Amino acid sequence: MIWLVGCLARADTIPLEPQPPEQPNLLLISIDGLRADRMSLYGAERKTTPNLDRLAPEAMVGDAAFSSSNESALSHAVMLTGRYVPEIAWPDYTEFLVPDEALTVAEALSQVGYATGGFLAGGHVRSDFGFAQGFSTFEESADFGSFRETVPPALAWIEQQEGPWFAMVHGYDLHRPYAKAGVLYHSFDARDESLICQLCRERNQTERIFDGVYLPQHVRSTVEHHSGKVMSDPTNYARGAELDASQGTRLSSADLDHMRAHYDSGILAADFYVGALIDELKRTGAWDDTLVIITSDHGEDLQDHGVSNHRALIHDSTTRVPFIVTGGALSMAYQGKRTDLLIDGTDVVPTLMRAAGTVSPAGTHGRNVLGLGTPGVVFQQGVTGQSAIRTPTHRLVFEGVPLTDPDYRTKAAAGPVVLYDLRSDPGETRDVAKEQVETTAVLHAMLNVHLGAMEYGTSRLPQSLELIEMLHTRGYW
Ligand SMILES: [Zn+2]
Ligand SMILES: [Zn+2]
Repeated sequence: MIWLVGCLARADTIPLEPQPPEQPNLLLISIDGLRADRMSLYGAERKTTPNLDRLAPEAMVGDAAFSSSNESALSHAVMLTGRYVPEIAWPDYTEFLVPDEALTVAEALSQVGYATGGFLAGGHVRSDFGFAQGFSTFEESADFGSFRETVPPALAWIEQQEGPWFAMVHGYDLHRPYAKAGVLYHSFDARDESLICQLCRERNQTERIFDGVYLPQHVRSTVEHHSGKVMSDPTNYARGAELDASQGTRLSSADLDHMRAHYDSGILAADFYVGALIDELKRTGAWDDTLVIITSDHGEDLQDHGVSNHRALIHDSTTRVPFIVTGGALSMAYQGKRTDLLIDGTDVVPTLMRAAGTVSPAGTHGRNVLGLGTPGVVFQQGVTGQSAIRTPTHRLVFEGVPLTDPDYRTKAAAGPVVLYDLRSDPGETRDVAKEQVETTAVLHAMLNVHLGAMEYGTSRLPQSLELIEMLHTRGYW
């Protein structure tokens, strides 16, 4: 009792740690296509993220974070709804959208008094696909835009707010084409005259590199949209058995590194603009009452498994992303901390809603990352039909059947599946399903339970010929 009285007596003499505001401002930054292991924050040799690096002492950094899909629209839809891809809408790449009936985090936060602003860079994450839902202010780039376009209006909007606000800011600075004009064009490797540099400057050429061989004769196959419009087959850039490598140009390891250097220059550009956004919030004081999440919607294979995109495969290369929680509203208890507990795209909604002092909408998956105590597992759905479970040590993948196949679950249950043991094979190069039979059986059963528990969404994107045409010319659809 004396000890307790002593504590109470001291309480008003010791300065207390400032308490986080009851409804902090919330900022979600999505750096499109950012593969965690290319960032210096995550140990990359090139200094690609100097601004995010200097945030580390005032941030909680997730070292094992994953996107829930390998494609922009699908992953961002999960990030904003906390639901898995097939639950949100009909899981067809060419018809996927965030339907009106989905409850987005912007809608949920506006119901508890937040002003909401979306500053998205267009492409696949635009109002046509339902991404404006719940944002009272929404601005989008016409094409695949940069943070250079989305940060200034976001800052202007934030400055006008008087009550709590939620803003989402997004940019495609490191997305294909990997080489973009500007002062950061050749930040890490200058070889302007080389073939690979030319390919990096063009929107759709690096995707014609398969297993290090450039195959200009690779022709994109097409499928028919329900509108009758012909569009690109999303499976195009998976490795095709029909390709004859002897017909192409073999690129050297220095060439492939040049391609990665262009991607890394894009990271540096994104880091520059995100750094400017953070500095301005600090200068105006808005930072003090704000909780910030910085993450991404997918990675990029960069030839690790023989392709130069993200849509063809579900691996760590295409789905391991940053997850950084920071801002003045982050409790001191989490600042300067790193966690290797698994985090995924479904965790964004519960983390934001909990920070706002409320609960997530019914049916939301995921966990508040500021309270993780147990490892958890990650479930993912790839745009060409892959379903994966990722644990701290293994990845198990079922693929080869579109998610829209009416018998998908039965086929997934029957297999075959591929298993990677990340302890001995972090690059995911060797299938050990037949060697680790018990692990395969357990993870396969968990994946089946996950797939069986999902009620598929039925909404489909209404046809828009202009949209199809625009994305088709950009190398999509
Ligand atoms: Zn993306
Ligand atoms: Zn170059």
